[in-house]
Amino acid sequence: MADRYAQFVSRVGCVALTRDVPMASCTTLRLGGPADLLAEPAGADEIRILLREAADAGIPVTVIGRGSNLLVRDGGIRGLVIRIGRGMRAITRDADTLTAEAGASLAELARAAAENSLDGLAFAAGIPGTVGGGLVMNAGAYGGELGDVCAWVEGLRDDGTPVRYTAEEMDFAYRHSRLQAERVIVTRAAFRLTPGDRAAIEAVMADLAARRNEKQPLNLPSAGSAFKRPEGYFAAALIDQCGLKGFAVGGAQVSEKHAGFLVNTGKRAADFEQLMREVQRIVQEKTGVRLEPEIRILGEAAEAEGGA
Ligand SMILES: Cc1cc2nc3c(=O)[nH]c(=O)nc-3n(C[C@H](O)[C@H](O)[C@H](O)COP(=O)(O)OP(=O)(O)OC[C@H]3O[C@@H](n4cnc5c(N)ncnc54)[C@H](O)[C@@H]3O)c2cc1C
Repeated sequence: MADRYAQFVSRVGCVALTRDVPMASCTTLRLGGPADLLAEPAGADEIRILLREAADAGIPVTVIGRGSNLLVRDGGIRGLVIRIGRGMRAITRDADTLTAEAGASLAELARAAAENSLDGLAFAAGIPGTVGGGLVMNAGAYGGELGDVCAWVEGLRDDGTPVRYTAEEMDFAYRHSRLQAERVIVTRAAFRLTPGDRAAIEAVMADLAARRNEKQPLNLPSAGSAFKRPEGYFAAALIDQCGLKGFAVGGAQVSEKHAGFLVNTGKRAADFEQLMREVQRIVQEKTGVRLEPEIRILGEAAEAEGGA
């Protein structure tokens, strides 16, 4: 693989590439072994080059955003990780519509909406992901979700061909979009908003930020809510009801402050993954409810773990 990588690096030339990047530095959980190669493209053209050359060289491709919904295993990620972030953050306005590149943060998008007196994105201000990751996850909070305001999404397939989906075609549902089962890299999206009052929108954002600060363990590494809300229940309430606040596997722990958040105080993704499984098992045994992970798991186990 080393030769293949060297050839790949020389052929993509213009795109910034880094070798052996610890994924712990690319995720809010601060966990995960190295990505063989990491690229941060500065636009769709660079993504197209990366995809073409990776396909030619037989190098697998993984895409990430801010890494705020990810658990990367201790063995890291083989092949190329494309991080959509810093180089793709432009946000433009046309009447009541904001168009954002996929690497813009949801906080930047919500701020841009407020500054333009546009209502509909205040809920997203405290979600620490990017526009691309947010659309894949249909991120939401406090009664709003991106699918409610999304007009269309543009992206690139593995072979570099462009795709454009309307909001209806995105199949948005609770923490779900069609992109979770498709190999498409989101490059840009538009959000249709409604005229509002800037001060009122900013007041809502401040109120939601205060509620997050009060309820969530924002001082510790996490990937937000570890599990989706099961129909008719709240994951945090079920976990709490099972007496699991503070329950730990190694350095991975159910938050004492908010049982829906699993936090990392150690260094092993394997502990975190085992904690997720243990919480699922205990909650199912005690309540009969099966919790489904919201966190997406990527990469390989460390060799010493025997590929478990
Ligand atoms: C403290 C905290 C609070 C949180 N609160 C909330 C909340 O209130 N509501 C909520 O919904 N979530 C919340 N989250 C989870 C997370 O922020 C969201 O899921 C967010 O949308 C993930 O965006 P990201 O850019 O970090 O994506 P990542 O975590 O990097 O990736 C998530 C998924 O999207 C894919 N992906 C990322 N970018 C692209 C792209 N450009 N094209 C194609 N695929 C892509 C990845 O492959 C992966 O499958 C929270 C997380 C934390 C740490």
